[in-house]
Amino acid sequence: MFNAGFDIGGSHIAGGLYDARCNLVRRVDEPFPQGRPEEVPALVARMAGELCEGLARGALESVGLAVPGSIDRARERVINAYNLGFHDFPLRARVQERFPDAPVLLGNDADLAALAELHAGAFIGAQCAVLLTLGTGLGGGIIINGRLWRGGMGNGCEIGHTILDMSGEICTCGVRGCAETRCAASALAREARAAARARPGTLINERTGGDPEKIDAKFVVDCARAGDAAALFVFDRYTDALSSAAASLINTLDPEVIALGGGLSGAGEFLFAPVREKTRKKSFYREHARIVPAVLGNDAGMLGAALLYDDDKK
Ligand SMILES: [Zn+2]
Repeated sequence: MFNAGFDIGGSHIAGGLYDARCNLVRRVDEPFPQGRPEEVPALVARMAGELCEGLARGALESVGLAVPGSIDRARERVINAYNLGFHDFPLRARVQERFPDAPVLLGNDADLAALAELHAGAFIGAQCAVLLTLGTGLGGGIIINGRLWRGGMGNGCEIGHTILDMSGEICTCGVRGCAETRCAASALAREARAAARARPGTLINERTGGDPEKIDAKFVVDCARAGDAAALFVFDRYTDALSSAAASLINTLDPEVIALGGGLSGAGEFLFAPVREKTRKKSFYREHARIVPAVLGNDAGMLGAALLYDDDKK
């Protein structure tokens, strides 16, 4: 049997066909139909047709959909996916209409990335684990008892919107001081832009040539590695915040492992060493979770979507 997973992103849709051992058998990519999200179900059906070419009828066990947004408790509708233009859209049913023989399931992309890490990445063998994705926002997924945690009320989890700094900045969700305002990769870049304005003559200013828009998280890491005082200050504040979020997760859930994903996790030990050391000092438990890089990268959402049907049966 095979399972298909689709990662529906703001710029493109990636589809993969996986065998029972999580091996990617075939993959297809298509640009996202910008401004016409209602065309996604037909596009997914066409992509699935390509994925399943030559397969025996009935060999497709399920179709999973990963979306970067909030999903209703029944996992039928996308409540909001701003990058895609979905607002209260019945995506699961609209895709299901096109697959009479296989169940269609819907999930949040960060949740599904955590599920993928459980089956084929950093969480293999773990009963409790947390994935934090450091990107434009702070995404996250939680594994409890060896399966994806969907919440007691069915709402799931929003680790990025746990409150870390009550006197901090207002988050995109409207609440002051969410973890996302300090731990997203975009927060590191934003703080570096402020530091560049406040401290002229630093390497950050020199390398941007006066254009603060050139500052992204990788830029800050590069300047910090080069020893720039302003970049180091900002990076130190960032690892302070991220270690506070990690220690809070440790003290709440006592996971075996916390994985950090997203482009910024590519900074390697330069990021992981201070985060581990600061988390150790803030954790209530002396023996606590390992903090490691996520391993699946861009394909995690797609694989997680393909695994959703199996995880649901557990
Ligand atoms: Zn928030």
